[in-house]
Formats: sequence, C-alpha cells, structure tokens
Amino acid sequence: YFISFEGGDGVGKSTQVRLLGDWIGEVTGREVVLTREPGGTPLGAVLREAVLHGDHVDPRAEALLYAADRAHHVATLVRPALERGAVVITDRYLDSSIAYQSGGRGLGDDGVELINRWGVQDLMPDATVLLDLDPHEAAARRTGDPDRLERAGDEFHRRTRETFLSRAAAEPERWVVVDASGGVADIQSQVRVDLAARLDL
Ligand code: C5P
Repeated sequence: YFISFEGGDGVGKSTQVRLLGDWIGEVTGREVVLTREPGGTPLGAVLREAVLHGDHVDPRAEALLYAADRAHHVATLVRPALERGAVVITDRYLDSSIAYQSGGRGLGDDGVELINRWGVQDLMPDATVLLDLDPHEAAARRTGDPDRLERAGDEFHRRTRETFLSRAAAEPERWVVVDASGGVADIQSQVRVDLAARLDL
C-alpha cells in the first residue's frame, strides 16, 4: 500500500505517520517505509533547503521545485519500495502541491496538477489521510523557528485548508478526513479505524 498524510503545518503529521507505521508493521508483517516531502531523498534535501529557506521564490518556480522533489522521490524511493512489497507512508504528497501552490499561492488547479501527475507518472496513493485543523490552532502548536511558508499570512493558510477539504470531498474513496484537534492517541485510533475500513489491514 501507498498511504499519504496531508494537512497544514503543525497538525501533527509526523507523529501520526510514525505511530501508524508501527501499527501497520505489526498487523501486516510487511516492511514499512516512512518518508516525507519535501526532502525524502538526498536531492530532495537540497531542494527543500532551497525552497524553504530562500528569501523569495517565484510561485511557479516554487511549484516546479516541489514537483521535481516529488518526481525524484517517487522514482528513487517510493516505487522501488512498493515494488519489493513494502508499505510506504509519506508525510505529504501531491495533494500538498495542489493545496499550497494552487490554493494557497493561487496558481489555479490545472498546471500544478499536470506537472505533478507527469512527474510521478500518475502514481497516486491508495489512501490519503487529511489531518484537519484550524490554522490558528495549528500555529499555536508549532515549536522552533518558522520557515518561510509558516510565516505566510492567515489567508494563505485558510485557502490551503479549504483546498485540502474540497479535494477530500471530491474523492471520498481515497480520502480519510480526521479532526486533528484532539490528543495524539485519539487521533491515531481514528486514523487506524478509518484506514482499516478502507484498506485490507
Ligand atoms: O510538512 P513540512 O513541515 O515538512 O513542510 C515543509 C514546508 O513546506 C511547510 O511550511 C509547508 O507549508 C511547505 N510546503 C509547501 N508546498 C508543498 C509542500 C510543502 O508550501 N507542496
């Protein structure tokens, strides 16, 4: 299986990915690969640094850099793992680009979806978990220095959230939407229940 986690900054994706990985390893007995975007590969780490810590990146250039990170990630890590029978869980995937670059940055849907679909040769997750949280609550949870995106305004984060929610509503057979305002354990149980109903776990 290929599973992605999506949601705004600070909703707790990395913790939930780790907990889900432990559980899926136990119940399936399969190898589980946990990864993330941007930055899941050595080239991706360079792209992540360039896109997140530069002063200003043109929105189209930004969209292409995320798409490049993703294409390389899929070709060198995700597909090989799926081909050897592993379960792959990624912290962000293509829907992040639609939410942030199409929605947040206002680039519109078509171009961003096209470059990304082309980049990954149409590999889509079997299931996508949206950890949904009000951007103000998420901001209050974050620790450490904010990156360039985390400093973006309220409107940007609101549009990003709305885009995730509308993609989830449009494709309910792929998406699992979980309210991320509760505690870590409660969120994880919800994720497990919803995924088990969808995948053969
Ligand atoms: O999830 P993570 O903290 O690793 O994401 C890094 C940053 O990249 C976040 O600030 C997120 O908002 C941003 N991002 C983005 N567009 C993407 C993926 C991530 O703006 N397609």
